[in-house]
Parts: sequence; structure tokens; C-alpha cells
Amino acid sequence: MKMRILTVYDNRACDERLKAAWGFACVIDRRVMFDTGGDGSTLMFNMRALGVDISKIEVLILSHEHWDHIGGVFALLKRNSGIRVFIPTSFSSELKEKLHELSYVVEIQPREPVEIMKDVFSTGELGTWTKEQSLVLKTEEGLIVITGCAHPGIVNILRFVKERFNDEIAIAMGGFHLGFKDVTQAFRRMGVRKVAPCHCTGEIATALLKRAYGENFIENCAGREILAVDRRC
Ligand SMILES: [Zn+2]
Ligand SMILES: [Zn+2]
Repeated sequence: MKMRILTVYDNRACDERLKAAWGFACVIDRRVMFDTGGDGSTLMFNMRALGVDISKIEVLILSHEHWDHIGGVFALLKRNSGIRVFIPTSFSSELKEKLHELSYVVEIQPREPVEIMKDVFSTGELGTWTKEQSLVLKTEEGLIVITGCAHPGIVNILRFVKERFNDEIAIAMGGFHLGFKDVTQAFRRMGVRKVAPCHCTGEIATALLKRAYGENFIENCAGREILAVDRRC
């Protein structure tokens, strides 16, 4: 069996049926959702176009409190109030209150990885300024790390994951927030096998990763589905 990671919201769309807008969201195995993009109507439009059934979503992990990651959360919870929502404990009390009204909320503590469901983990809240949690999937091929904006630093996040999960990083994907920064050497040293940057990574940093990774660079955009061998089988 394969674990399926489907990008449903991104700055770019690689499926002409979809809308592109600033933000990020992806769905894992049609039941785990990571972030919700910048606005509810675009999120709903893309999920419908991709045939993702919102009533089947069981958990939502919100990486951090920026609008381009939480923008679609209310549209989503209005359609399925049974979704359990995992948030960094540093979220504002105003947002926490609103989420509590609509769903069952779990607060993720700093630097404490938590198993959300089988083979699906939060890194725990990382970073000092903008606090953020990332998602870690355990697969036969190694770890898949998914970041929202990677404000704590993508290299710091991956280093933390490698140490705490004690496994190889098969794929690093999501927004890396790098601009012009070149992380190819650091990624190589950590043994990151494949990369699928998108959202806020930055054109220059993305081009550098693409050149360095060649066929192990995955063009990530709304509509892209990434498959990994599932360890559940
Ligand atoms: Zn952000
Ligand atoms: Zn962002």
C-alpha cells in the first residue's frame, strides 16, 4: 500500500482544474490534513475538484498562525465539526477560543514530538519568534517531513527530526522560506534524499535545490500527489 500526499493548495497549480493562491495545504491518505491555505473558498474549490471528501477528514494539523495557513480552517470545520485540530500551544487565545467552539482541539507543546495517528507525528512546537510545528510521516522509505513556512529554519527542523526520530529523511516537502539562501549542502550532509519545495521557498532557493537534486527534485504545486511506501502494509 502507498501513503498518498496530495497538495491541495499552493501558490502555483500544476493541474489546470485548480486555483492557485498564496498559501499551503495538503492531505495525507484522504484523512489527515496539514494546513488550510489562505482562503476557504479556494480551499473548498480545489478539494472538490480533486475529489477529496471533507467528511472523511479525521485530523487537521495547523503548522502556525499565519493567515496563509489558517485561512481555510473555518470553512473546513463548518463542513466537518468532527475533525480533531492539532495546534501549537502558542496560538493566540482569540483563535484558540474560536477553534474550541467549532471542534476538538489538541495543543502541541514545545519540542515534544507527538504521535497523532499511526505513523503520523507532529515535531512539537519549534522556533523562538514564529513558532511552528511540522509533520513527520514514517514510511518504509524513511521519514517524510512536511513544513508550512519553516520559520524556525528548514535546516533546524530537519536536524531536530533526524535526531528525535532517529531515521533517514526520504523527502522534505512544503514551504521552506529561504529566499536566496542555498541549503543544498546542508541538505546533502543530512542525507535528505528527495525534496519537494513549494509555497514560500523562494524562486532562487528552489532553482538551487532543483539543480542539486536533479531527478530527486519533485515539482510541488496544487494537484501534485506524492506516493511513498506505507509501513502499515
Ligand atoms: Zn508563515
Ligand atoms: Zn506561509
